[in-house]
Amino acid sequence: MNNRAPATGPVEATGPVEATAPADGAERVAGPPSVIEIAGVRKSYGATEVLRGVDLSVARGSITAVLGASGSGKTTLLRLIAGFDGADAGTISIAGRRVDDGRRTVSARHRGVGYVPQDSALFPHLTVRANIAFGMPRRSRARLPELIVLVGLTGYEKRYPHQLSGGQQQRVALARALAIEPKVVLMDEPFGALDAALRDTVRSDVARILADSGTTVILVTHDQDEALSLADHVAVLDSGTVTAHGTPRELYDRPPTPQVAASIGIANILDGEVVGDRVRCAFGELPAPGAACGPAAAGEPAAGPRPCRVLLRPESLHLHSTPEDGTSPATVRQVRYHGHDTLMDLAVDASGDADGLALTARITGRAAPQPGQRVWIATTEAPHIWT
Ligand code: ADP
Repeated sequence: MNNRAPATGPVEATGPVEATAPADGAERVAGPPSVIEIAGVRKSYGATEVLRGVDLSVARGSITAVLGASGSGKTTLLRLIAGFDGADAGTISIAGRRVDDGRRTVSARHRGVGYVPQDSALFPHLTVRANIAFGMPRRSRARLPELIVLVGLTGYEKRYPHQLSGGQQQRVALARALAIEPKVVLMDEPFGALDAALRDTVRSDVARILADSGTTVILVTHDQDEALSLADHVAVLDSGTVTAHGTPRELYDRPPTPQVAASIGIANILDGEVVGDRVRCAFGELPAPGAACGPAAAGEPAAGPRPCRVLLRPESLHLHSTPEDGTSPATVRQVRYHGHDTLMDLAVDASGDADGLALTARITGRAAPQPGQRVWIATTEAPHIWT
């Protein structure tokens, strides 16, 4: 990590760690398969309990996004991993070395961690080349041209930060973090300061750079799109604990709880009941194959209907303009046009009550029904179910 960044950058904030953190005294633990192992980490500020027992493993070479609402403790967790602050309890290990056990901590500069803050925090008076080289051990300087190529800044070496776009500045910050050949790169909302048009391009540039460099990354973000599109693994942080950890697809398609479903994309969550391999809900009867919904095992009495909750993502709902088999009538309440798709807020009218169940559907194409219009909803997919 470049722990000598500008005084305004978060990397400067080493806090009390160094005073209590003899690097040499660090305990070595048996090499885990992951680069980062966090177990039972707790952290309070005064009476505010921010982290309440965080467990997280980060696989070597992976990008893990820690996704959570503002105030959920993401930055606090990142600062503890970086060594800018110490945990009250629990353990943090990096590359097999215990760097925090709740009492003793290894200082930030001895953790081999690169840090990319939200605002890039470049030295305004140094060129691109000098910013990247700053903090780089002399023996590694030969890698400088290679790093500049990696982050796509060839030809920009002599420019100063104010002569770069926001995306280029973030790429310099990334190169600076990579320059020390870190065991892990920590990124704190690294695209938050970029405007929407630039964010997508910079994100995909950074994803390519990280993939090319094979670096292990933890990225904290409140942006679900960013977490799903950039990361190999997503950990959901809610009120100071990790409530879910999996691949983006696992968490989107089979979230462990309705709360997690609602924190990753739009979730229509309905009450229902499982009967054999079907699930009944206000929206109709849907297929529900799988163990949780299967028929009773041989020799056991047939199971009666079991209450469950049903997840229907907006894109699994299809709208028809006329009633057809297996469709449910609804009224369009609101239309939210997004260019590439349109979100339709619908009130399902299964019982003749137009103020019935609220659902959101996502449709593509140019022809979208208008508010007040009657539509008929169908889904062909088996929904995810919690029993
Ligand atoms: P996030 O990054 O998810 O937005 P943070 O980790 O920044 O969340 O903050 C979590 C909570 O901890 C917030 O309520 C914040 O006010 C509090 N907090 C963070 N740092 C400090 C601090 N140094 N002193 C007191 N409270 C803090």
